[in-house]
Amino acid sequence: MRRLTCDICVVGGGSGGIGAAVGAARTGADVLLIERDSCPGGTVVSAWVHNWEPVCGTSELCRRLYERMRLMPGGADADYSQSLSRLNVEGIRNPPLPFEPWAFVRSVEAEFAESGVRRVLCDTVFCGCRVHSGRIESIVVQTPFEMLEIEADFFLDSTGDIVLARAAGCSFLKGAESASEFREPSAPNHADPTDLNAANWCYRVRPVESGAAFCGKRLSEYPSECVNRSKFCVTMPNGDLLVNPCGTTLLDPELEAEEYADRVRSAREIAYLCWHWDAFAGGKKLQLAGFAPRIGIRETYRLAAVYVTNENDVIAGLDFQHDDVIATCDHPLDDHAHGRCRELTQGYGISFRSLLSRECGNLLVASRGFGVSHIAASSCRLSRTIMTLGEVAGRAAGICVKRRCLPCDLKISSEPSLLKVSLRNGKGSGG
Ligand SMILES: Cc1cc2nc3c(=O)[nH]c(=O)nc-3n(C[C@H](O)[C@H](O)[C@H](O)COP(=O)(O)OP(=O)(O)OC[C@H]3O[C@@H](n4cnc5c(N)ncnc54)[C@H](O)[C@@H]3O)c2cc1C
Repeated sequence: MRRLTCDICVVGGGSGGIGAAVGAARTGADVLLIERDSCPGGTVVSAWVHNWEPVCGTSELCRRLYERMRLMPGGADADYSQSLSRLNVEGIRNPPLPFEPWAFVRSVEAEFAESGVRRVLCDTVFCGCRVHSGRIESIVVQTPFEMLEIEADFFLDSTGDIVLARAAGCSFLKGAESASEFREPSAPNHADPTDLNAANWCYRVRPVESGAAFCGKRLSEYPSECVNRSKFCVTMPNGDLLVNPCGTTLLDPELEAEEYADRVRSAREIAYLCWHWDAFAGGKKLQLAGFAPRIGIRETYRLAAVYVTNENDVIAGLDFQHDDVIATCDHPLDDHAHGRCRELTQGYGISFRSLLSRECGNLLVASRGFGVSHIAASSCRLSRTIMTLGEVAGRAAGICVKRRCLPCDLKISSEPSLLKVSLRNGKGSGG
């Protein structure tokens, strides 16, 4: 098997992996990025979640990416500065930042080139790893045409589902934790490993001049979940609406393969019938412009990290912070599976120790699968928050490689290059 070497290997090129690769490369490290899809972007591009919700605490990298997209005709057109906290001073939700997936990919690739991320292996899937004495020595990946072994000093797991961390033997969490686990006020008495935030199949519709002709379907033929369903819609630069039919299905990674495939298929059918109902029964003048290539998944496995950020951190807000807070977030506790959304009055901090595995020294998790409880994950999963965490993780990995130390040796409060990544606002100031 052919062997490649690098300082830092990032597995997964979604929001977290993009932040991680750029953060690591900016420290001067030799970075290699592995991605299963044909281009970087992850859920944002492949599940058509090409919209950044307003949130505090995001990094300059996010701003640079958006400004690059604004320079591409039709790529993005919103005012970035309007979207730096969830609520404005009057307590009203700030506008989101929609953009086109193709513009995001081009913008990410330009950022890679500028920051020095030179090796990006797309269409390449992580298959396994070799671990010795709490250290990942190498991973094995499958490219379209060969198996490769990749040796690195440091690994960043940005797969979303913490595929690398689990293969390396790290402990993990799944589903709702019981109240006794983290003493969270809203947690149930008993853990429920099947309680996961919902998965959705997003689609796009185009407003047209005339309504659709009668299609022959009777109202009674529509499944009840498609009739007048509440949907989250965002207007794209070309006037299309990006539609997220909230709370479509529960996708447990431990379902049997056939059942999993059935649920994915039925989520797509629900999305289709949601449009159909709007266009024909609801009389809206909307043409179906297409479905996302993949279903969008909010939650699967999470790292049982050195510290697990939880509802108590969210409630405490910025009045109480650990001394290793590396990012802030003010998105509501937003559980699509149960239709619950609890607004926050201010932001809260995310601890660096939530990226650290207890078992592997040279690994950080830089994706939605970082060490966060089920309840807190419903808040801090937004793309820009994950990208910001990824950037800190990448920089921390770069420091560790240079100093030949482990992330658990870093004293975060004395690491200005890590602390300054996130714009640490979050008081709901609208700024
Ligand atoms: C339906 C839906 C709507 C959302 N709406 C919004 C919104 O409006 N605004 C917002 O800011 N956020 C939104 N989010 C949240 C946000 O999009 C995600 O939480 C975020 O993009 C996750 O980023 P990530 O890097 O953790 O994971 P991903 O983006 O999923 O990236 C993981 C990457 O790892 C790769 N990978 C996985 N396994 C392997 C493997 N074995 N080998 C190689 N590569 C692998 C994948 O291909 C993928 O590219 C939404 C999420 C969903 C599901």
